[in-house]
Amino acid sequence: MICIPITAKTNKEALQEIQKSCLIADFIELRMDLIADGDLDDLIPAIRSTKGSVKIIVTCRKKEEAPAANELQGTRSIIKNKEIGKMDLLKKAIAMKADFVDIELTEGPAAISELRDYCAKQGGVTGIIVSYHDIKKTPSLARLKEIFHQSVENGAAVVKIVTFAKSAEDNLKVLSMIPYAQKHPQKIIAMCMGAEGRISRVIAPFLGAYLSFAALAPGAHSAPGQLTVRQMRQINNLIQGNRPNKSEAVLSSGQDLQNYVLLGNPVAQSLSPAMHNAALKEMGIDGRYSAFCVSNLESAICGIRGMDIRGASVTIPYKVSIMEYLDEIDDDALEIGAVNTIVNNNGRLIGYNTDCLGLMLTLRQLMPVKDQTFVIIGAGGTARAAVYGIIKEGGLPIIVNRTMDKGQLLSNKLNCPFYSLSDVAKIKADCLINTTPVGMYPHTDQTPVEASLLAGYKYVIDVIYNPLKTRLLHDAEGQGCRIVSGLDMFVHQGAEQIKLWTGKEPSRALMKKVVIKRLEKIEG
Ligand code: NAP
Repeated sequence: MICIPITAKTNKEALQEIQKSCLIADFIELRMDLIADGDLDDLIPAIRSTKGSVKIIVTCRKKEEAPAANELQGTRSIIKNKEIGKMDLLKKAIAMKADFVDIELTEGPAAISELRDYCAKQGGVTGIIVSYHDIKKTPSLARLKEIFHQSVENGAAVVKIVTFAKSAEDNLKVLSMIPYAQKHPQKIIAMCMGAEGRISRVIAPFLGAYLSFAALAPGAHSAPGQLTVRQMRQINNLIQGNRPNKSEAVLSSGQDLQNYVLLGNPVAQSLSPAMHNAALKEMGIDGRYSAFCVSNLESAICGIRGMDIRGASVTIPYKVSIMEYLDEIDDDALEIGAVNTIVNNNGRLIGYNTDCLGLMLTLRQLMPVKDQTFVIIGAGGTARAAVYGIIKEGGLPIIVNRTMDKGQLLSNKLNCPFYSLSDVAKIKADCLINTTPVGMYPHTDQTPVEASLLAGYKYVIDVIYNPLKTRLLHDAEGQGCRIVSGLDMFVHQGAEQIKLWTGKEPSRALMKKVVIKRLEKIEG
C-alpha cells in the first residue's frame, strides 16, 4: 500500500496536494510539522470528502528525526502550528478519527501512553504508529530489535523503523526487521533513507511491510531517497511482469514471494539477475533475484538469515571468505575450497559450488572427459573447480599458472602436474581451458596463450563469456580447434543454482537466450 506524505508549505497548498494524492494513494500522511498553517479541521474532512477509503496518518515529526529531504525542510522541520502543541494536535487527530497518529519512540513511554489512553477514550478507532528515525546512520541489528520490542511494549499498532543507509548491508539489516516483526506478529514499516536506501523502498512491500511511502511528485519528498508514486508504480509494473499472477496486488502482499540475491562486489554489470529472473518467471515461480553490492559480508549474511532469503549466488571476491559464515558446506564445495551458491534451508545456510558442475556439463557436451588430458590456465577459484571436476570424472588435468607458488599449491593439493605459464609450449594435451580473466571485456585484445601454441589442442574452452568469442577462442578457431565460450558454463552454473533453490529444472535454453541478448546489447 502506498502512503503519500503531504509536505506542502501552507494549508491551501496542502488541500491541493490532497486532491491529487487521494486519487492514487492508499494512505495520506499529513506532515503537520511541515504545513506551516496546517489545520486539521480543513485537511481531514478534505481527505474524507475526496476519497473516503483513503486512510489518514497524522504526524508531527520532531526536528531531530526529520531529515532534510529538500531545501525547504531544514527550516520547516519544526512545529509551525504554534497555536496548538504536538500532543494536543495528535489528540485532535484522534478525536477526528484519523486512522493513525505517529509518535516517535523517543518522545517516551509517558507521552505514548497518554495518547493510547486518549485513543481508547475516543472509541479506539485510531491506531498508534510508534516510529523511530535515525537520519544519519543505521544502528546494529541488535539495536534495531531493541527498538522494535520497545515500540511493541509501548502499544504500537504499527512499528515504524526508518534509518539512513550508508551501504547495502544497512538495507539488509533494516529489511530483516520485516520478517522478524511478522513472526511476533506485528505490523511494521521498515525502510532506509538516502540514495543507498532506495532499494529498501522497492523491496520492503514485497517482504510484507505494512506500507511504503512515495512522493506525489519530484520535490515533494518527505525523506531523502524517497521515490515518487510514478517511479514506485513503474518498478512494480516491471516486477509484476516477472510474476506469474498478474492480477495480484503487488504492493499489498509479498508473503509468498521467494527472494534470491547475488552477493559480490562489484555486481553492477552482472547478467545473473536478468538470467535468473527470466528463468523463475518462466517456471511460474513467484520469485525475485536482486544483486547486492556487498562490502561487509557478515552483515549481508545476517540479512539473508533475517529476511528469509531463500538462496544466494556468491561471486568475486567472496567465494572463499563466505565459507566461514555458513552452517554447512557440501562435500564438493569443501574440496574445491569455494562456494558460489547458498541454500537457505529453514534458517540453515548451506554452501555449494555449481561452477564445477557448470563447467563439467559444458565439457561433457563437447568431449569425453575420462582419460583425456586438460591444460588448465590459472590457479584461482575457477581453476580449482575445473581441476577437481576433471579428476573426479577420470580426466588428467595439468595446471599452468603465472604465479609459481599458487600453481604449485593447487598442484600439491589435488596431486596433478604443474607448469609455469612461460612453459606452456612444452605441454601437449587434448583440451585447453582458460580460467583466468585475461581477454575479458574491455581488455578484449589480450590472450593468455599465443595463437601458435594452440595448434595441438582438439578443444579450447574459455570460461569468459563477455565477449562471447575472446581473442583466445578466435585464435584457437584459426588453428582448427573446436571452441566453446564460458556462456554454457555460466548458464549451467546458474541453472544448477535454481535447481538447488527450488528443486525444479529451469529452461537452460531460455537462460542462454537472455544472456546472449544482454551481451549483444553490451557489445552494441
Ligand atoms: P581468481 O580466483 O581471481 O583467479 C584468477 C586466476 O587468473 C589466477 O590464477 C591468476 O593468476 C590468473 N590471472 C589473472 N590475471 C592474469 C594475467 N594477466 N595473466 C596470467 N594469469 C592471470 O578468479 P576466478 O574466480 O577463478 O575467476 C576467473 C575468471 O573466470 C573470471 O574472468 C570469471 O569471470 C570467470 N568465471 C566464469 C564463470 C562462468 O560461469 N563462465 C564462472 C566463474 C568464473 P595468479 O595466480 O598469477 O594471480
